Amino acid sequence: MFDVNSLLRRNIRSLTPYSSARDEYKGSDAILLDANENPFNHPYNRYPDPHQQLLKSRIAALKSVKSGNIFVGNGSDEAIDLLIRAFCEPREDNVVSINPTYGMYKVCADINDVAYRPALLTHDHQLDIPSIRELVDENSKLLFLCSPNNPTSNNFYRDDVKYLIRTFRGIVVLDEAYVDFSCEASFIRELDLYPNLVILQTFSKAWGMAGIRLGMAFADEMIISVLDHIKYPYNVNALTQHMALEKIANEAGKQEWVRIILNERELLQQELVKLPMVREILPSDANFLMVRFENPNGVFRYLIDNKIIVRDRSKVALCEGFLRITIGTGEENMKLMEVLGKYDPLKYETD
Ligand SMILES: *Cc1c(COP(=O)(O)O)cnc(C)c1O
Repeated sequence: MFDVNSLLRRNIRSLTPYSSARDEYKGSDAILLDANENPFNHPYNRYPDPHQQLLKSRIAALKSVKSGNIFVGNGSDEAIDLLIRAFCEPREDNVVSINPTYGMYKVCADINDVAYRPALLTHDHQLDIPSIRELVDENSKLLFLCSPNNPTSNNFYRDDVKYLIRTFRGIVVLDEAYVDFSCEASFIRELDLYPNLVILQTFSKAWGMAGIRLGMAFADEMIISVLDHIKYPYNVNALTQHMALEKIANEAGKQEWVRIILNERELLQQELVKLPMVREILPSDANFLMVRFENPNGVFRYLIDNKIIVRDRSKVALCEGFLRITIGTGEENMKLMEVLGKYDPLKYETD
């Protein structure tokens, strides 16, 4: 039997959370003299809803889950940090993850003085189950997985992910930041089967709103209530909540962006393989392409000289020689190809 409380840090288990000003009153027509706000400058004079009820109800409808299964925060990064702070006793517990993957899991573990144990992926960038199992011990509270994975751009085999969720005795955090671009379905429909699963999604990629900082975590109510108890009361500001509600009302707009980006991904891939200095392009389930170049450092510097910035992943384990290229607009991708077409390797020799 999975028991969230037994995994929690001692101080979190016995925490009395901050209660915010308006928790006792549910209406919207009262005279509000309780929170020392300024009575002028409506609506921004008021603190935002600390429970984000309207936003959560819209996300619930969108994702076919209950509001009680949703946490929203200041980017996915907040959920990552809160999970580590809630479950991992510094210098005692550890988190297990994979390598290569998204950098924030390690940064958050390091900041919280929690040991970070990455298991190298297999050569075809899949989960290496035996090496993950080898790193797990009784102090492993969280297992971070990212599928589609950043930077390798692929999905992990579904059965491998399921196996790890079923057998890991702590909480599995499955980061689905790129799931909208993937041919695989989200695990969100199977949330009810797994009381130890946390799914992370974000408004930063397919929804086109990295600037408003809004991330989502989906999990069993027990886990969500832990996150809600330890977050800053007003962690999602009013502007962000308003903007997200507006965008969610037009989900078709997001779908159209995804369609365009997937089409551009295909076109860009077809053009890139024709270049003489391109050695390999990984199959992508995300909104970026991993491209291996004969001389990645030279191409990287050449692109910067031409005011095109890509991500150099060429020193990352299992990604040697690769640059990570985000799919831009059709115009931007054409410009990229035009510039790459004029690359002169002799001018950018390896240093
Ligand atoms: C971009 C990205 C995110 C998004 O993080 P936010 O804090 O929500 O902007 C999360 N996980 C991965 C793997 C990413 O690449």
